[in-house]
Amino acid sequence: MLRERLEKVEERIATAARRAGRRREEITLVAVTKKFPADTIREAFALGLRHFGENYVQEFDLKRPELSGLDGSKFHLIGHLQSNKAKRAVELFDVVQTVDSPKLARRLDSFGKLTDVMIEVKLSEEEAKEGAPPEQLSAVIEALAECHNLCLIGLMTMPPWSDDPERTRPYFRRLAALGRQYRLSNLSMGMSHDLEAAIEEGATYVRVGTALFGPRIRKWPP
Ligand SMILES: *Cc1c(COP(=O)(O)O)cnc(C)c1O
Repeated sequence: MLRERLEKVEERIATAARRAGRRREEITLVAVTKKFPADTIREAFALGLRHFGENYVQEFDLKRPELSGLDGSKFHLIGHLQSNKAKRAVELFDVVQTVDSPKLARRLDSFGKLTDVMIEVKLSEEEAKEGAPPEQLSAVIEALAECHNLCLIGLMTMPPWSDDPERTRPYFRRLAALGRQYRLSNLSMGMSHDLEAAIEEGATYVRVGTALFGPRIRKWPP
């Protein structure tokens, strides 16, 4: 099952990259494993996946003990991070994609653990969406420049949900423009249903859950 789904996702990534005149190697597939057990991560690892995205610090904390020996794997925090979980987040994750304020940046930095980070950018007015508004981006970047344990590698965004990729494309284009403006080469954008549009607009990380693992019907913890 997973093998077939992965083949399909790989084919979609390759086709989109070709169409955009980009190389497949420029794009990292982050397998989003929230609400799936550690076994699912191990199975994906066995099929060659190395990057995994999780939304909740607490959930991943419970799975982490079952994930030893997955050499070369990188775990990305892709969900909103509350500052009281910041310490555990840098202990558990290789990449924190959801830094959205100078305060959170300084807090993450204070624990002395070398961590790659991205800034989550909020590109819509929608209340529920987390992230730094574009006008605060330079303040977060300046704060990160003073953080000696954090390495800023790019920008991340999560547009308002739409089943029509053409409606999310403008958000991807906007993030790419901000990436150029601030000379940040990585863009984390695009999910199961709109990864093609994201790749065409320049995504270097796509975050894919459902298309690999099926619907997230289960509750966590089980
Ligand atoms: C759940 C989630 C994804 C994956 O979404 P799918 O539609 O299942 O591919 C990607 N990014 C974030 C931030 C998520 O929370």
